[in-house]
Amino acid sequence: MAQRRKKIIIIGGGLAGLSAAMKICESNAEVVIVAYQSLKRSHSVCAQGGINAAIDSRGEGDSPDRHFYDTIKGGDFLAEQPLARDMCYKAPSIIRLMDRMGVAFNRTREGHLAFRRFGGTLYSRTAFAGATTGQQLVYSLDEQVRKYEHDGMVQKMEWHEYLGAVLDSKGICRGAIIHNLRTNEIFTLAGDAVILATGGPSRVYANGSTASTVNTGAAATMAYMQGAKYANGEFIQIHPTAIPGRDKLRLMSESARGEGGRIWVPKKPGDNRDPLDIPEMERYYFLEERYPLFGNLVPRDVASREIYDVVYNQNLGIDGQPMVYLDLTHKSKEYLQDRLGGILDIYKKFTGDDPKLTPMKIFPAVHYSMGGLWTDYETDSEEMIEPKSPRNQMTSIQGLYAAGEADCHYHGANRLGANSLLSCIYTGLMIGPGVLSYAKNVSKSKEDIPSSVFEDAKSYWTGRFKSISKMNGSENPYQLHRDLGEMMMANVLIVRDNKTLDRAYNSISDFETRFKDIKCVDSNDWANPTPSFINQLYCMIHLSKIITKGALLRDEFRGAHFKPEFDLNQPSDFDPHEYIHYQEQQNFGEVSGDAFPPSHLAYMKRFEENNKKWLKTTIAQFKDNQPNITYADVNTSLLTPRPRKYD
Ligand SMILES: Cc1cc2nc3c(=O)[nH]c(=O)nc-3n(C[C@H](O)[C@H](O)[C@H](O)COP(=O)(O)OP(=O)(O)OC[C@H]3O[C@@H](n4cnc5c(N)ncnc54)[C@H](O)[C@@H]3O)c2cc1C
Repeated sequence: MAQRRKKIIIIGGGLAGLSAAMKICESNAEVVIVAYQSLKRSHSVCAQGGINAAIDSRGEGDSPDRHFYDTIKGGDFLAEQPLARDMCYKAPSIIRLMDRMGVAFNRTREGHLAFRRFGGTLYSRTAFAGATTGQQLVYSLDEQVRKYEHDGMVQKMEWHEYLGAVLDSKGICRGAIIHNLRTNEIFTLAGDAVILATGGPSRVYANGSTASTVNTGAAATMAYMQGAKYANGEFIQIHPTAIPGRDKLRLMSESARGEGGRIWVPKKPGDNRDPLDIPEMERYYFLEERYPLFGNLVPRDVASREIYDVVYNQNLGIDGQPMVYLDLTHKSKEYLQDRLGGILDIYKKFTGDDPKLTPMKIFPAVHYSMGGLWTDYETDSEEMIEPKSPRNQMTSIQGLYAAGEADCHYHGANRLGANSLLSCIYTGLMIGPGVLSYAKNVSKSKEDIPSSVFEDAKSYWTGRFKSISKMNGSENPYQLHRDLGEMMMANVLIVRDNKTLDRAYNSISDFETRFKDIKCVDSNDWANPTPSFINQLYCMIHLSKIITKGALLRDEFRGAHFKPEFDLNQPSDFDPHEYIHYQEQQNFGEVSGDAFPPSHLAYMKRFEENNKKWLKTTIAQFKDNQPNITYADVNTSLLTPRPRKYD
């Protein structure tokens, strides 16, 4: 008898979800893709600047190993090294694959792929399609998935919401609970495995974020509440350059600096002259001065901290406001249109100023989560990823997988620009073979699961939505969300300290109390987003606890997590190579007392002690309504952790 095809449920139709769907269908399995909105409107379409791969078409000496090194250093050594290495090694073939699928990457005059520079590297490594790279990538993958849809292997459920996993009596994931956002019907889907490719959670910061409204992190948080581990939640990326705005903050992509954009402020505090009237001598190009080697292309955590310092500690924000200039006016209009047209149009549309003629005003904004659902992986004796291992990308709930921004292992404490599109497509492609080996070998197939497992899940969620619709208190859920976002913006952002974090963590219980007093402002039964939003808000409150408690307990300064109190104060003349010599000396016996200046030796000892305690993945598990935090070792077997330096 012919065996039925395996059926995998994928939640999310961004780059991670679409590439997973394509890969799984290639192996003759069926896929259901569930998404809040039309797949082509997934948040990935907003990605602007590009995608990294060390193809080295300019002959600069770049290589996948250098890409790996930059990624690990950029993430302050907190990324899982075997996974990050495999991603960087596969990056060139991913770009070639996307190119063959028709992505309109910019090209050189000779017809080769063009690459631009991005932060945290000295190489031109970022492939791009103007400034709408994410859109081009999504559209190409969507076309591939449509082909399989035509062949009956893909079923799309757009305008549907995933509410949680269906778990059997042993806690194994057997399917998903789905909410039809038009009819309000709640039903279950049975599958051999479920993949969460649900993107990031930056909307926890409400309007302080560059993310789309659907990026609530609710799916991952629900998995956490069902027993999955959530890792490194405190590592939230603040992008240095966003367009300030009252409704939301819009990204001004790093590609603007990759194409030569310069950040500066007037040297004189409160100088309110037209920027074009301020002569060069009276401008402070602070990134270029403080970081001569990387200049405007230092990694995002570094740039955001420096902008913060210039604005708040030195009072040099433009006209006393929290803003600095990002200047492209020295480039020709034609060049800017070709390379950055999409994002410069966005700036003009929302501010009325033409960035080709006048410097842009920008400020940092919440952008990305390095943390996410903890996932497993398997390596061989040489630490290479076992491509078909069912463990790859599986969360701590058996049968429930995660990929893309929803996972946690690739970017450590800080993500390099243009590495996210890569990790989304990489995890989407690599997850396929492993999920299918899991599906083939799982003890019971979906037909053998008692129907009561699905009925119970449906009845729980139907009841929950009924009670949400009946909520009749005095709190407006949308206002409560704005307040939560403002609290997170004020307390858990670029510069962190324990007193403030402690206060912030305690204040979250007030949000829980206010949540109970919500009024469901619309209880209509047709296409009503309010009950869903209330449920997502509940998840965001829990996610804010994970982020804040993780930040409170991590007493160090690493990547995007900056607690000045625990700064190890690297001496300004310190060279990170010294640390490698220091380690070699340790390995061969004794460290010679006069081999290093005393201040360097003392710093290296502080660095080592700090790593012993904190070079760990934070693991949050849901217990008694709170995140219970523990720490797991990070695999650093391929690159010795060393102090970071970019000047
Ligand atoms: C403005 C902006 C520009 C960026 N530019 C770049 C760039 O140039 N280069 C780069 O590398 N990175 C960039 N990033 C980051 C990058 O775009 C994202 O990290 C990446 O696209 C995430 O892709 P994903 O597939 O994980 O999720 P997404 O593309 O966010 O897709 C998530 C999917 O899950 C669905 N979903 C979520 N929850 C549910 C639910 N409960 N039920 C049903 N469906 C659900 C959504 O509908 C969506 O289909 C940028 C980010 C922003 C905000």
